Amino acid sequence: MGEQPDISRRGIMLVLSSPSGAGKTTLTRNLLDQEQKVALSISVTTRARRASEIEGVHYLFRNKRQFEVMRDSGELLEWAEVHGNYYGTPREPIEAALSSGRDVLFDIDWQGTRQLLDKMRDDVVTVFVLPPSADELKARLERRAEDSAAVISHRLQNAVEEISHWREYDYILVNRDLNESFARLQAILTAERLKRVKMLDIETFAGKILDDLKKFSP
Ligand code: 5GP
Repeated sequence: MGEQPDISRRGIMLVLSSPSGAGKTTLTRNLLDQEQKVALSISVTTRARRASEIEGVHYLFRNKRQFEVMRDSGELLEWAEVHGNYYGTPREPIEAALSSGRDVLFDIDWQGTRQLLDKMRDDVVTVFVLPPSADELKARLERRAEDSAAVISHRLQNAVEEISHWREYDYILVNRDLNESFARLQAILTAERLKRVKMLDIETFAGKILDDLKKFSP
């Protein structure tokens, strides 16, 4: 859904932000499973790899020095320090995807979102995922059980800062029910793909219809 096969278009940068535990990772995974035209932006991070994570699939895991070299040589489109670690978006894969009409999904924080908006406003669509309540956010972090109690408490504190930036986003999803939120996310993507400014050869396409209509004029 959301594709018009005979009209080529520039890809969309779809940014999803939320505090940890609001359901963003699941929404991301579902979107990647269901939408062939959407690729995930794989960030670089200095954070330690979690047991469930794979190098090159979830993140590019680098040490601080390697990260600084990438950042200082302009290889990153944006970067930020989150929970005491560095995170950043490699530039090259994004530019390649967009110009070939592929959409790119970003799981980045409010600081990275601001930088992308500053640099590429016309390409960027931003979505903030809110939990249904503070209690539910805490419960979800505890259920995940991958992090220690200290890490969970730290993430709850960080949630305050992340959530305080909700106004800077184009769309808000209150994630009460994952299926419902996913359907809404797909609706956002579908509508954004249909925007006139995204369609590269719509001028030619619409012009041809107008030209062809001339043959019916009396
Ligand atoms: P986690 O350590 O739980 O994977 O991610 C922590 C936070 O860092 C999340 O809010 C995530 O959105 C953010 N993050 C992940 N990658 C990037 C990135 O490349 N840039 C920025 N600015 N934030 C990121």
